[in-house]
Amino acid sequence: MTARQIITRKRDASQLSENDLRFMVEGFVSGEVPDYQMAAFLMAIYFRGMSDEETYLLTKIMIESGERVDLSHLNQFPIDKHSTGGVGDKVSLILAPLVASAGVAVPMMSGRGLGHSGGTLDKLEAISGFRTNLTLNEFVAQIEKIGVAMIGQTEEIVPADRKIYALRDSTGTVASIPLVVASILSKKIAEGAKALVLDVKTGKGAFFTSEDKALKLAETLISISKKFNLRTTALMTAMDQPLGYAVGNWLETREAINILKGQGPKDVVDVTLALGAEILCQANIVDNFDSGIKKITRLLESGAAFEKFLTLVEAQGGDISIIEHPERYPKSQCYRIVGSDNEGYIHSVDALKIGLLAMEIGAGRKKISDQIDYSAGIILHKKIGDPVFKGDLIVEIFSENEFSSNYLEEKIHDAIDITDEIQQKPSLILKYINNEG
Ligand code: URA
Repeated sequence: MTARQIITRKRDASQLSENDLRFMVEGFVSGEVPDYQMAAFLMAIYFRGMSDEETYLLTKIMIESGERVDLSHLNQFPIDKHSTGGVGDKVSLILAPLVASAGVAVPMMSGRGLGHSGGTLDKLEAISGFRTNLTLNEFVAQIEKIGVAMIGQTEEIVPADRKIYALRDSTGTVASIPLVVASILSKKIAEGAKALVLDVKTGKGAFFTSEDKALKLAETLISISKKFNLRTTALMTAMDQPLGYAVGNWLETREAINILKGQGPKDVVDVTLALGAEILCQANIVDNFDSGIKKITRLLESGAAFEKFLTLVEAQGGDISIIEHPERYPKSQCYRIVGSDNEGYIHSVDALKIGLLAMEIGAGRKKISDQIDYSAGIILHKKIGDPVFKGDLIVEIFSENEFSSNYLEEKIHDAIDITDEIQQKPSLILKYINNEG
């Protein structure tokens, strides 16, 4: 068997065996299968897809590439949440401490930014000193002690996802249902979660822009989860415009801190509360969704979630003084504002274009080795449906690199569309998908 033969078979749409998939994944992790062959293999999967059996086997082999955490000794039920990727999505930073403060164990393993879409790990690492690479023992000990830990894929836990995820980002192979399913579920199963609540995004800034594709992704995630006895439910949420006002790592972390302190954009709060209520139902802490919303809202308003976030940041080595005083964060060299060139109502704020611009100014990576500029990003001052007058501030832009005002204005005016007609605020939570079927 050679990598070339396996790539060719997938290219020609043949069904691969467990041995084929193991050869590619284990070979890539050990370095025997080089990047260029893995990249070709991922592209073949992207175009040819995978059967449910292949997707299940890929997930299993990725889990087996590292250790599997056992949290069965905990008194609390271990549950995690995962988003399929979007722009301005800082929900995990709020939700993990929030549900931990309700008595759920949260072993959260997240990813870095992928393409135009941000990643929880990069947002956490915007806090100086924050360690997302805890050892397995540190990870388990922290969950035992404070009920929550937030890490990335490591050499010990799903090293296969760590390597494949980075390669997908730079080879245009992110938006593949089997690859997303294996990536998300391998992390969640290996980290020891017993239930999972998913935020499946659809719209311009999601990897799967159509609702049909996003629904297929949600259904595949749920059906493959079942084979691993992982109880999974999903919300489908809109990602046509960025979530909240902030896009970029530190700016998003700061927005999450504001929400934990009781102020912040309603759309982020609404998604967080809905996912939180679903988690409390899964953990049998409440009997139904409405009671979950009431309980989780009280915890957010009481400051308990903010206290838990401080404990989490301190436990993972982060500088809590910056959480208490976000205004002390180092300022960017380049600061630009863009005003409206028209009057009317905001018709669209293209999440993909805003995500790509944020990446270009330093908030994301164009290639694996790129360094993130944590303070780079965009603050929106208008969202869909808002009235706007000529000259009104519509965005602020921050970067360590110099960008001319004209260039940024052009980009923003291309991403944000203004119309004469009154616009409705779009629906955010589109569907609830459970695993009963
Ligand atoms: N999140 C992940 O963890 N993996 C993907 O492939 C996409 C989103």
